[in-house]
Amino acid sequence: MRDVIIVGGGPAGLNAALILGRCRRDVLLCDAGCPRNAATPLTWGVFTRDGTPPFTLREQAHADLDRYETVERREIEVAEAHVRQPGFEIALTDGTRERTRRLILATGLRQELPKVEGFETYWGTGVHSCPYCDGYENRDQAIVAYGRGHGGCGLALELSCWSRDVTLCTDGTDGDLSRKDRSRLERNGIRIIETPIARLVGDGVQAERLTFRDGRTISCSGVFLMPVECEPSHLLEQLGCDVSETGVVPTRNDYEKTNVPGLFVAGDASRRVQFAIVAAAEGAMAAFAINMELIAEDTA
Ligand SMILES: Cc1cc2nc3c(=O)[nH]c(=O)nc-3n(C[C@H](O)[C@H](O)[C@H](O)COP(=O)(O)OP(=O)(O)OC[C@H]3O[C@@H](n4cnc5c(N)ncnc54)[C@H](O)[C@@H]3O)c2cc1C
Repeated sequence: MRDVIIVGGGPAGLNAALILGRCRRDVLLCDAGCPRNAATPLTWGVFTRDGTPPFTLREQAHADLDRYETVERREIEVAEAHVRQPGFEIALTDGTRERTRRLILATGLRQELPKVEGFETYWGTGVHSCPYCDGYENRDQAIVAYGRGHGGCGLALELSCWSRDVTLCTDGTDGDLSRKDRSRLERNGIRIIETPIARLVGDGVQAERLTFRDGRTISCSGVFLMPVECEPSHLLEQLGCDVSETGVVPTRNDYEKTNVPGLFVAGDASRRVQFAIVAAAEGAMAAFAINMELIAEDTA
């Protein structure tokens, strides 16, 4: 029986493995190798590593972990996870099974892109999920908030922190905007376009303009998407873990605990603040809490 199995080797899982390995816990880290930010060339806003390619961060983290004989890394997907008293059992896609006292799910998020021509092509370079990650690189340029209703209004206002040239595109005639939201957008110099979008066009790397089905075209260096509901990992359901209506796990207190004793969920799978460094910090918090639980159990 392992001390801890970690499912997911993004910033959350990698940092949890590092802390637990240093606590001399027997750790297995399983990672399918499909991180959410795979499409982005550079990761911003990470202390001492600002503007580093995500896969460079991963390689460095692997090199750090490989120094610890307590951590085993496997590049493999976890197909199943079940509560098996005491602890948990997981099944890997190669058919092997493993038992563990504690389980961390750090599986990230799966986000569907809106079905707009060009969004897939420019995802990570011209279509972004987070102004805090990519707003600065689009500063003072023509940028678009893609969204509807009060959330779309909020995103557009948020983007005005990075540029005075912001357009809210609702991609449809009914933008679902209240009179109050419309007048707030207008007061802040934000244009509203409620026509369906035809496509996002650019030079293959850099987005340049957005065209609409009514023939209109606007300049656009970047499109920022409103947070959407995400598809939670199927492992959460197998484990009986509570999931919010937006698809993330409402963890308890600061230690990434869930409603299932012994199960921790860290990183994008558990929170709304989706930064690499926050995910890493959550992994560390889960690791700390697990180590304390295991000490209490072993010394009772
Ligand atoms: C386009 C884009 C750009 C971004 N840019 C920035 C930025 O500049 N700065 C910043 O701070 N943040 C950025 N982010 C956010 C940042 O990438 C995330 O907050 C961070 O990656 C979350 O880390 P995580 O460990 O929770 O999940 P992830 O990094 O998504 O890692 C999850 C891992 O779990 C694995 N996994 C999932 N299911 C299983 C399974 N069943 N078995 C095994 N493995 C599994 C996946 O393959 C993946 O490798 C960006 C996000 C996107 C989408």
